[in-house]
Amino acid sequence: MTEAERRPAASESSPMMRQYRAAKDAHPDCLLFFRMGDFYELFFDDAVAAAAALDIALTRRGRHQGADVPMCGVPAQAAESYLQRLIRKGFRVAVCDQTEDPSQARKRSGKALVAREVVRVVTPGTLTEDALLDARRNNYLAALAEAEGGLGLAWLELSTGEFHTQAAEPAGLAAALARIDPGELVLADRLAARADLAAALDGWEGSPTALADGRFDSESARRRLHDHFGVATLDAFGAFGRAEIAAAGAVLDYVALTQSGRTPRLAPPKRLAAGAVMEIDAGTRRNLELVRSVAGAREGSLLDTVDLTLTGAGGRELAARLAAPLTDPEAIRARQAALAVFHEDSRLREAARAALKQCPDLARAVSRLALGRGGPRDLAAVRDALGAAEDLAGLLGGAERGAALDGAAAALAGHGAVRQALGAALGPDPPAAARDGGFVAAGHDPALDELRALRDDSRRLIAELQARYAAETGIASLKIRHNNVLGYFVEVTTANAGRLAGGDRFLRRQTMASAERFSTAELGDLERRLESAADRALAREIEIFDRLAGAVAAASAALAGAARALAEIDVAAALAQLAVDRRYVRPEIDDGRAFEVSGGRHPVVEAFLERGGESAFIANDCDLGPDRRLWLVTGPNMAGKSTFLRQNALIAVLAQAGAFVPAERARIGVVDRLFSRVGAADDLARGRSTFMVEMVETAAILNQAGPRALVILDEIGRGTATYDGLSIAWAALEHLHDVNRARALFATHFHELTALTSRLDALRCQTMRVKEWGREIVFLHEVVPGAANRSYGIHVARLAGLPAAALARAEEVLGTLEAGEQSGALARLADDLPLFAAPPAAPAPGNLCPVREILEGVAPDALAPRAALDLLYRLRAALDAKDG
Ligand code: ATP
Repeated sequence: MTEAERRPAASESSPMMRQYRAAKDAHPDCLLFFRMGDFYELFFDDAVAAAAALDIALTRRGRHQGADVPMCGVPAQAAESYLQRLIRKGFRVAVCDQTEDPSQARKRSGKALVAREVVRVVTPGTLTEDALLDARRNNYLAALAEAEGGLGLAWLELSTGEFHTQAAEPAGLAAALARIDPGELVLADRLAARADLAAALDGWEGSPTALADGRFDSESARRRLHDHFGVATLDAFGAFGRAEIAAAGAVLDYVALTQSGRTPRLAPPKRLAAGAVMEIDAGTRRNLELVRSVAGAREGSLLDTVDLTLTGAGGRELAARLAAPLTDPEAIRARQAALAVFHEDSRLREAARAALKQCPDLARAVSRLALGRGGPRDLAAVRDALGAAEDLAGLLGGAERGAALDGAAAALAGHGAVRQALGAALGPDPPAAARDGGFVAAGHDPALDELRALRDDSRRLIAELQARYAAETGIASLKIRHNNVLGYFVEVTTANAGRLAGGDRFLRRQTMASAERFSTAELGDLERRLESAADRALAREIEIFDRLAGAVAAASAALAGAARALAEIDVAAALAQLAVDRRYVRPEIDDGRAFEVSGGRHPVVEAFLERGGESAFIANDCDLGPDRRLWLVTGPNMAGKSTFLRQNALIAVLAQAGAFVPAERARIGVVDRLFSRVGAADDLARGRSTFMVEMVETAAILNQAGPRALVILDEIGRGTATYDGLSIAWAALEHLHDVNRARALFATHFHELTALTSRLDALRCQTMRVKEWGREIVFLHEVVPGAANRSYGIHVARLAGLPAAALARAEEVLGTLEAGEQSGALARLADDLPLFAAPPAAPAPGNLCPVREILEGVAPDALAPRAALDLLYRLRAALDAKDG
């Protein structure tokens, strides 16, 4: 801060407030972080909002239009953690920094303001700092545009430079957004207002940023892309549609807007062709818990269970693969081949994983450096990652590995120059920011060494001066100290001060409670020498930093290639390790319609049971070949139907992601769309009841599933009256069989549906085996051909702890229902007992079944034969009386 800024004036007319206003007016939708010395200050409404969101003190600074100006501040050093909290709470923050040193401003005039500029707008999709990002998760900035009646999506990761596009249709938008899972979505005002997109946009977790329509113009987008990539046409990158170009240009424009004109290195956009990945709608993703559990956490998801990657980039790559399984058998086989190299060669796998353990996040470090936001620690990250890359290249070069990893091996090699430059220049433990200095290794730069020697020499001379002053004045406790206000000074206790005062050598500067402080001409001289040496040393270090950062930025395209190769190797080696540890096998993938899994297991439940060490997972086969493509799975509650259904869907996802699968053998004809309808969940926030959600999901399946789809349906028609539900389930099963002709697993408690096998020739009945043991039943978790005739729901109700009276009554009602002529029997039961009124806590004696009443008083061992015969007559009479 300059003197002009220290005055606590915040009136509109003060120059600083005018500077503040200009920055704020340019970013009205952001909180403005206004740099003042060591703090970022916020004023007016921004201060009120930020203080509440951050739970920090709200103070005031000066008055404006007769009212106090609210203010709060955060230390600049710790700004990242505050930024993170604000972004998480949905704020956008414009960072207005000092763009010159206060001393420069002072040189202009004693009253000059330090120049300030908004250097960046921090939004959820434009983060680059490790502290603001999840190392294992991509954070995409996406744009949605429209042109020629079609929709286009573009998404990029500012922190790594990845850039993608795809064409979309309104009906497929929700699924695409669920797959990309962007941290921020920008779109044109007119799309934000379109009713047919509302459901898809609502389904996405965040709230989209609507921008003026003009920013989505496809022609200016095309020009922007040409300029950015220095090409005359985009054809070499792919056959982009107009809407995709509009979206890609808009996303680039938004980056420029938020980064104050700086653009990072971006890879040329890669076009995702229609049908290139398995389509999985948002509900199915949620139900199958692919990358996040239903509760929203990573823990408990498929990704969490199968992720043995060792680097953040590997983790991101694996998550991306599970989110978007491929549909091209060739491409899938290429991933399998890379995995197989590490699967077969355990020495290579172990050595590679040891090298990866030491490997920092190359892509993110390079991006920060290229954006001018990196520090010495990022340079060290590049150096260390290139070290790991070199080790890996050596390992791959020496291994028997076929051609599967040729691309990766080539991308890892050839970075010697950058690595050597960084290795020679950097010392150990570099600081995060270049301005902290001290990161250039001693001996690297003679000019720097000289300045450092001068600086250190001055420090030594100051120490010597202290000793000399102490000797000359006879004050042994005399000290030379330093603070930010006085600089260097001589300090003695008050009692000794008299010995220094008087002459012109020691000039009194400050009187403290128990000490006096003095300056001397010699000390001033030394201080100036030291400061100038230290300043010049730091300036020299920053010069070296800039040179190195420039070298990294210049090599950034090649370094991004190396970063991708590192991630791919991490994923391949990690999936190989997983396959070894958990006995996964390589599935056969082709273009056919087979779905044959022998000894399949549920990856998450299996890992869970293994950890608990209680029981082993029971493997099951599944064969949905063309003549048996629809399996109707019946069986008791808790027997494992849901687990079986999901495990097959997860096996398809893993297989097409290029991983091995938890089975003894698997052959899968690629699945183009995966559908699941499982469980029951209210979506009250969107005004949909449980049954409505169930029907919406069922409708989507029956309307959209084609012959290459895989469908898992876990119960339909459970949320309505029995006959309605049964009818809907019945019709859905027929529709799936006759119209959709998809491979499907259909679990149900409507045992009546098994009758359909006589008419639907590709329908097979399967059931979960159980063993009855007196009143107990044991779930064997085995799927076998056949149909269940009971659900054992009351057994599960007992396990769950329903009151004994309610259980006894339920058994009685069930017995009546199972005996047939249901309505009449039910009516009698209802007369007999107020079934639908609140039942008594324990059965009243009068309401007990008379047969039971008689039997309860009997001790069979004590009965004489004649008494037993009498008892039989009594029982018979009681039964007749009850039925009559
Ligand atoms: P409901 O009809 O009540 O929904 P369900 O038949 O779908 O029940 P699941 O939820 O699949 O039953 O399984 C119940 C529990 O049984 C699981 O949480 C798991 O612990 C265990 N289980 C399921 N399948 C297996 C298996 N193959 N091997 C071992 N344990 C299993």
